[in-house]
Amino acid sequence: MGAYTLECPWCGRSITDHYTLRCDTCDGLIRAKYGARQLSLKSLPGMWRYYDWLPAKGYIDTPGKPITYKSEGLAKELGLKDLYISFNGYWPEMGAHMDTCSFKELEAPPTIVRAREHGGRAMVLASAGNTARAFAHISTITGFPVILVVPETGAHNIWIPGREPGDAIKLITMEKGNDYSDAIKLSERISALNGMMPEGGARNVARRDGMGVAMLDAAVFMKRMPDDYFQAIGSGTGGIAAWEAALRLREDGRFGERLPRLRLAQNLPFAPMYRAWKAGRRDIVPELDMPDAKKQISEMYTDILSNRNPPYGIKGGVYDALADTGGEMYAITNDEAIAAKKVFEDSEGIDILPPAAVAVAALMQACENGLDKRRSVLLNITGGGFERIKKEKSINKVEPCLKVSGPDVPLDDMLKVIGWPALSEKSLTL
Ligand SMILES: *Cc1c(COP(=O)(O)O)cnc(C)c1O
Ligand SMILES: [Zn+2]
Repeated sequence: MGAYTLECPWCGRSITDHYTLRCDTCDGLIRAKYGARQLSLKSLPGMWRYYDWLPAKGYIDTPGKPITYKSEGLAKELGLKDLYISFNGYWPEMGAHMDTCSFKELEAPPTIVRAREHGGRAMVLASAGNTARAFAHISTITGFPVILVVPETGAHNIWIPGREPGDAIKLITMEKGNDYSDAIKLSERISALNGMMPEGGARNVARRDGMGVAMLDAAVFMKRMPDDYFQAIGSGTGGIAAWEAALRLREDGRFGERLPRLRLAQNLPFAPMYRAWKAGRRDIVPELDMPDAKKQISEMYTDILSNRNPPYGIKGGVYDALADTGGEMYAITNDEAIAAKKVFEDSEGIDILPPAAVAVAALMQACENGLDKRRSVLLNITGGGFERIKKEKSINKVEPCLKVSGPDVPLDDMLKVIGWPALSEKSLTL
C-alpha cells in the first residue's frame, strides 16, 4: 500500500525518492512507478480514493475530487453520443467540492504530503494564479506552511473560500517594477533553505499524478478509457498527466488497450505549442512560435494559458504525449472561447473558468471539422463554479505579510518577518 519508486523511463534508471525532481543522467521527466499494477479504490476522502497511484505514504483530509458525469445538454447541442465531462471546481449538487475552483486543487494535496514525507517543512512557490490559491487553501486546511511570492498586481487572486486564511500562509508581494521572473528568482533563493521545498512544476510527479486523477476518475466511471481527451493547456502538465494516467490504465488491463487521443487547446494569439506541433517540430522556436510574446499574452482571453517555457520538447513532455496518443492541437480565438463559454453554461447549468471555455471551443471546432460523433469523448472542465461559490461562501483575501523591493533582498530579515524557522517547527507536529 502506498508503495512506489521513481524511475526515469528515458535512461532506465531507478531513483529513490528524496522529493527528487530530476534524473541525474538525462533531462527526461521521471515518473512514479507504483507497486499496485491494478487500481483498487480506497475509501479515503476526495481524490485519495486513487491513493494507489499517488506518490505518498499518507494522505490528508481534503474533500476535492473531479466529478465525472455523462453530458446531456452539451452532448445534444453538439450531436455527440458519448460525451463525458470531468468537472473540477465547485458544484455542490454534483458533489464537486474543489472550492478554489480549479484542478490545481488536485496538485496541492499530494505535493504537500510528498514534501512533508521527505523532510519538507514548508513549500515555496511563485504564482498568483490557480496554483497559488490551491496551495493556500490546502495550507489553511492542514496548517502546512506555504510561502507565496508574487508581483504586487497578482495578490488579489489569492483568496480562501469560506474561511479565514490560515496563519501558515505567508504571502510576500514584490513592489511595482518586479514581474514573474523576479518572483521566480526570489522563490528560488528561498527554496534553497533547508527544509524548504519548491513546488517543482511539471517535474513534480505528485503534481502530475494528482492531475492524472481526472483521467482515472473518468475511466472508473466510464468503465473504459475515453477515445478522446480535450483540455486547454498553458504548460501542458495536465495533458502529460492524462497520458501517464492512461498508460497506467492500459497496464491495468481492465480499461482498454487504446490510449485516449490527447486533444489539447491553446488560446490565440499566444499558442507556441500549437505552432510547433503544427510545424511538426519537437522544439519551440521562440521567433517563430511566440514572436512578441508579451504583446500576445496581453491580448489573450485568459493568460492562465500563457506559459513561455512549457515542458513541450523534453523527453516525456507534451510532444511525446501527443505523438504517442495520435493527438492533436487546437488554437482558439477569444471570440470562440467566449461563445463556447455561453454554450456550455446554458446547456450544462454551471459557470466555467475562461481556460475551460477554451477546451469547450476546441471540442466545438473538432465537431465542426468532422469528429466522429460516436466516439467517446472526455472533456476536462479544468475550472468552474466560481460565480456559484461567490454567492454561497465568503471569499477571503490573503493579506501580504511583507512587501519587498526586489529579488535580491537579504533573506535573513525576510525570514524573521515570516517567522521562519519557528513556523516550520510548529508544522512538524502535524
Ligand atoms: C493551470 C490551468 C490550466 C492549464 O493546465 P496545464 O495542463 O498545466 O497547462 C487549464 N485550466 C485551468 C483552470 C488551470 O488552472
Ligand atoms: Zn534519465
